[in-house]
Amino acid sequence: MQVPANFEYAKATTVEETLALLARHGDEARVVAGGHSLLPMMKLRLAQPEALIDINGVTELSRIRIEGGMLCVGALVRHAELLDSPVAGEHFPILHDAERVIADPVVRNRGTVGGSLCQADPSEDLSAAFGALKASAVIRGPDGERTVSLREFHTGPYETVVEPGELLIELRVPIRPGGSSAYEKVERRVGDWPLAAAGAALWLDGGRITDAGIGLTAVRAEHFVAPEAEDVLRGAVPSEELFAEAGRVAAEHCDPGSDQRGPADYKRHLAGELTTRALRRAYGRSQA
Ligand SMILES: Cc1cc2nc3c(=O)[nH]c(=O)nc-3n(C[C@H](O)[C@H](O)[C@H](O)COP(=O)(O)OP(=O)(O)OC[C@H]3O[C@@H](n4cnc5c(N)ncnc54)[C@H](O)[C@@H]3O)c2cc1C
Repeated sequence: MQVPANFEYAKATTVEETLALLARHGDEARVVAGGHSLLPMMKLRLAQPEALIDINGVTELSRIRIEGGMLCVGALVRHAELLDSPVAGEHFPILHDAERVIADPVVRNRGTVGGSLCQADPSEDLSAAFGALKASAVIRGPDGERTVSLREFHTGPYETVVEPGELLIELRVPIRPGGSSAYEKVERRVGDWPLAAAGAALWLDGGRITDAGIGLTAVRAEHFVAPEAEDVLRGAVPSEELFAEAGRVAAEHCDPGSDQRGPADYKRHLAGELTTRALRRAYGRSQA
């Protein structure tokens, strides 16, 4: 039987209370959201926090709203809630594409957007989806609030810029005209983590791509994005050849490793092919 080490437990109902509890319990305190990643790690003693601050009652973090021309997704929004959100799907279909293939309904009903991003698993789907959208993360701590580009959020596998004592509050995605997006993933079994996955966001004006975002996961792409492939797309006229070239460049600039999920060269092939498919689908949506 796997049993976690002893820990103190406290429940918060507001962001301010969470921050006060984190400050009181010090650097060895962790917040728990859905618990789908943290609790198994505690049972395996890979994580041994001295105190758990339960944020499931912090309802102010559970909202999805449009504000200031941005889609704002609270850190405590469950995967299932993002998947069910008409406003998220209307502006950013990539988020529905990605959520549809994250785990299974049991995990999606409990797991949260903030927990996924803060866990920073190198195979995490939402990091690639929000990375493609050029989202930013709002983080609050004892010294106030700061906003960080998602492209600077991850500092390494399982590491982010969120410091002990800080809380991820929400993700913000600017709503820009002419936008479209899509997400493509290959997994070994339904509900599994990806072998590779790619997200694409396009912004079009007058038949040209004015800006593009490419997100990749499970293939060791730095910050879960492929800026070199975005450079290929920006300013160009959409075509099959262009999307294939962007896929080729994305594959060239990632660095997948071989593991139990598959060999490195297959994952690199997938990174390219899935980038091309996501671009094709995003562009198709823009023309519908
Ligand atoms: C069987 C299974 C299959 C899965 N498959 C996939 C998959 O295919 N794709 C995928 O992307 N994910 C997958 N996941 C992960 C899933 O998305 C989890 O929901 C996610 O890993 C963690 O979310 P959580 O809310 O449970 O976080 P928790 O486990 O509660 O927390 C994870 C970490 O984030 C920290 N944290 C949580 N919220 C905050 C916050 N607001 N501010 C600061 N720190 C915070 C915690 O302290 C902890 O360190 C899978 C999980 C399981 C169990």
